[in-house]
Amino acid sequence: MLEIKNLTKYYGDRLAVDDLSLHIEPGKICGFIGRNGAGKTTTLKSVCGILQFDEGEILIGGKSIKDDPIGCKKRMAYIPDNPDLYDFMTGIKYLNFIADVYSVSTAERATKIERYAKEFEISDDLNQLISTYSHGMKQKLAIISALIHTPDLLIMDEPFVGLDPLAAHRTKEIMREICDRGGAIFFSTHVLDVAQKLCDEIAIIKDGRLVVFGSTEEVSGNKSLEGVFLELEGEV
Ligand code: ATP
Repeated sequence: MLEIKNLTKYYGDRLAVDDLSLHIEPGKICGFIGRNGAGKTTTLKSVCGILQFDEGEILIGGKSIKDDPIGCKKRMAYIPDNPDLYDFMTGIKYLNFIADVYSVSTAERATKIERYAKEFEISDDLNQLISTYSHGMKQKLAIISALIHTPDLLIMDEPFVGLDPLAAHRTKEIMREICDRGGAIFFSTHVLDVAQKLCDEIAIIKDGRLVVFGSTEEVSGNKSLEGVFLELEGEV
């Protein structure tokens, strides 16, 4: 579903991602772990076609993000770490705007919005301006908007930050549901116990280089993921 081949990205002369390759098969949730500044957001934004990269190739369902950005974007969704939405819109207007962008039919968007707004408990807030939303409410709206066109690949940057426990639980259920129907998830997180429980695969990035990639069992063995990570960072 997602293939990253030799991704290299510089900001000026600062090397942010260094020859990174990984492959996520349909049905897999892959957690992306690394210290602040390790290169996670840069990688995720490159996958989504938000950032241009210097070398390498990124394929989504076999299509190149460079050669066919629209084809790739139709199949994926991105939830950024900061839900910077259009404050001047109401929640429902924003969701309909996103549904229009992805040409989602009226019937389908209504079903999706009703389901997810109920699950995330924001049905009663959808007619309010986004400027009045809390951080968590904006995050919920960003998640719903990402699900509206039924993406096969979901890219998420620290998706649980700001979510209440129920919303975090729902998000994990929805992530698994996407994978059960043949999709895949690539998401960054600093919450290692959640990653260990939720992910099929773990990718660890250090100073822009992928230093670990494998199944969660392979990577953590009989240790905690936190233990493995600290060891790798030379902290134990
Ligand atoms: P965090 O966990 O703090 O979100 P991250 O792993 O997502 O970190 P990135 O945001 O990808 O890290 O940053 C990787 C490196 O690239 C860092 O050294 C950062 O300072 C640098 N960087 C990121 N964005 C820019 C930018 N727009 N201009 C210059 N350097 C940048």
